[in-house]
Amino acid sequence: MPVDAHILVLGAGVTGLTSAMLLAEAGYEVTIIAAHVPGDSSIEYTSPWAGAHWRTHASSEEPMLCDWDIQTYEYWSALLDTENKDLQLHRSGIKMYESYDYWDGPVTEDLWWAPYVRNFRHVSESQEPLISISKRTPPRAPQIANAVACRAMAINVPQYLLYLLEQSRSLGVKLIKARLPVGRGLKAALLAAESTVTVNGRRLPDCYVNATGLGARKLCGDEALYPIRGQTVLVKGEANAITTRIGEGHRTYCIPRPGSNSTILGGTREDGEWSETPDPKTTSQILERCSAMVPELLTGRDGGFEVISVQCGLRPGRNGGPRMEKEDVDGTKVVHAYGHAGAGYQNSVGSARLVRRLVDESLTPTFGTARL
Ligand SMILES: Cc1cc2nc3c(=O)[nH]c(=O)nc-3n(C[C@H](O)[C@H](O)[C@H](O)COP(=O)(O)OP(=O)(O)OC[C@H]3O[C@@H](n4cnc5c(N)ncnc54)[C@H](O)[C@@H]3O)c2cc1C
Repeated sequence: MPVDAHILVLGAGVTGLTSAMLLAEAGYEVTIIAAHVPGDSSIEYTSPWAGAHWRTHASSEEPMLCDWDIQTYEYWSALLDTENKDLQLHRSGIKMYESYDYWDGPVTEDLWWAPYVRNFRHVSESQEPLISISKRTPPRAPQIANAVACRAMAINVPQYLLYLLEQSRSLGVKLIKARLPVGRGLKAALLAAESTVTVNGRRLPDCYVNATGLGARKLCGDEALYPIRGQTVLVKGEANAITTRIGEGHRTYCIPRPGSNSTILGGTREDGEWSETPDPKTTSQILERCSAMVPELLTGRDGGFEVISVQCGLRPGRNGGPRMEKEDVDGTKVVHAYGHAGAGYQNSVGSARLVRRLVDESLTPTFGTARL
């Protein structure tokens, strides 16, 4: 049912696009303004650099984040069921795989999510794929001490961003590519957004959604935001499964990129590092750690990986967690939705549903201090 309100979403990463799609589904008129849009490549635009897979990092002491991750898992499971039934549907680029987590020592995290995912199980050293990995591991290298498995999703991120944009467009969402001014305060940026949107033939917005990721640091002066740099290596071939290995001081993953005959290897985390230049030593470490886990990708003439590209992306880390709240900026209604760190895909649906609720609340008339 149409809702007579116009929402202007700032940002076209996974957070802004998912929010725009759900707001449009709820009947709002929605416009997006973003400096970078699906198809673009920039260190200022995190979403295209992600792996990405569903593997929660939330702890049971963060119930909101746990809930978002589970909501997204369920939403994607239902989406895949629908896509599998109708081959004519536009493909999202998401696929379900076996997903293995390996620890070189004790399990260092709480597995609260086990009851919510499909086919969760512990894997013993006398089971595959552990038998094969152990055979391939050089004698003095660390062995896997603990392993669990489940069914989880990998996301072809360039395809998924385009899918979200197409879904949004089919619901009437308009995308405007424009950079908003920074350094003069959020109100000045909102006024610039307002004039951009009206010049492009849309009416004045009733509410804004700020989904500018790491860009919010400058856009609204939020110094709690910081980059968590991740380096990845894209290699030829689609791995048979998703693999995450957690060892002393490192976490390494192999994430097949559905339908693209390629796999992302990575897992590094460098807090506060802004550089977009990959470190060759880190590349060698990633390739070495992954080689025992995905032998099906060792197709190079030298028996190693066939590297397509090496890149870095900046996860939007934030002290205190994502900022999800309403703000009245000198009479302008804003809902903030940024700072999703390394979980912006896997929590995107839960986060976007909260955005929709906060937008609904922002537009609900209040009388005095009482809320209807
Ligand atoms: C290496 C790596 C691996 C990752 N792996 C995973 C994973 O496996 N699973 C997972 O869930 N997540 C993963 N992530 C995290 C995920 O990618 C991020 O959480 C997510 O992409 C953040 O999206 P966003 O929409 O909030 O920000 P962004 O994608 O950065 O989008 C911000 C948007 O705001 C716009 N913007 C900013 N400033 C302005 C301005 N002044 N004017 C106009 N527009 C502006 C930008 O142009 C852009 O459109 C990974 C990230 C990296 C780097």
